[in-house]
Amino acid sequence: MEKRLAFTTTIPVEVIIAAGYRPVDLNNVFVSSPDAPLLVEQAEIAGFPRSCCAWIKGIFEAFKKSRDTLPVDVFVAVTEGDCSNAKVLKELIDLERGAQSYLFPFPQDRSPEAMRNEIDKFATFLGTTVAAAEQVRHDLRPLRKSLERLDDLSWRYPGLVKGIENHLMLVSASDFNGDPVVFRKEAERLVAEKEELLKSGNYPKELKPLAYLGVPPIFDLYSFLEEKGGVVVFNEIQREFAMPGEFPDLTAQYLSYSYPYSAEYRFAKAIGELRRRKVAGIIHYVQSFCHRQIEDIILRRMVAAANLDIPIITIEGDKPQRELDGRQKTRLEAFIETL
Ligand code: SF4
Repeated sequence: MEKRLAFTTTIPVEVIIAAGYRPVDLNNVFVSSPDAPLLVEQAEIAGFPRSCCAWIKGIFEAFKKSRDTLPVDVFVAVTEGDCSNAKVLKELIDLERGAQSYLFPFPQDRSPEAMRNEIDKFATFLGTTVAAAEQVRHDLRPLRKSLERLDDLSWRYPGLVKGIENHLMLVSASDFNGDPVVFRKEAERLVAEKEELLKSGNYPKELKPLAYLGVPPIFDLYSFLEEKGGVVVFNEIQREFAMPGEFPDLTAQYLSYSYPYSAEYRFAKAIGELRRRKVAGIIHYVQSFCHRQIEDIILRRMVAAANLDIPIITIEGDKPQRELDGRQKTRLEAFIETL
């Protein structure tokens, strides 16, 4: 049976594939489960505090559930550059047994030498080499190019690509839904469909272009935004998962990837895209009980310092829910109306 490697956030997936593992992003397993609210509840029954981020609870239960269906052979938690909760999560999963575990730290000084070293250590741990992972990087280029094209179409022609389509394709680039070959076909099919739609001109053209910044949402807010006249043309972190651009090697690629580094580095990169995409408004999503909520202050200061006259709304999400609650809807609707 195929070996599976599960992780808490994007790590060098090229190494995982080179070592013959199927990558599994537990965030995607959790949030796409029809039982996502139940998984959070089960984690709370198991003792997770109410004041702990729902993603951590969901990841833990998704891991446990996978033991009964498709067992995980290796579990990787990202410690530096993601979430301090991940350290304890790794210890908890060690207690559960059944999988080898590994801590992957993104070097916070963004030093090429340290990054190279971490990729090399990870490859050695999985029994592969950096050279094999570089070959996988090369093989993944057409897939990453298709994702880049989809993202490009999203902002060049607001309304052509739905916000949820952009979100789902880019966020899935963390593990390619477990199968890069199938995922590449899916990405190419969607791009071809959008190119056809562009030629026909038959898509909504009056939607206001919006940016979505912050960790991926725990619920779908894209459909509501489109109902109210806005469309997300920039999904910040999701785009980072897709790693668009040309890089000489894995080290450069994972140093450019902004999510695990400082808020200042992340937002400086995002501000370049906000300018390029000429967005009318910014939605900053923050997760309840997440340290990244404080980054809202940094974002607002940096946007002001960059003289970007773009209104920002901060939306907080807690648990997975089928649709936005009344307050979230009212605030977003009013925000779009003011743009
Ligand atoms: S949303 Fe924040 S607290 Fe939750 S897992 Fe992600 S980084 Fe950690």
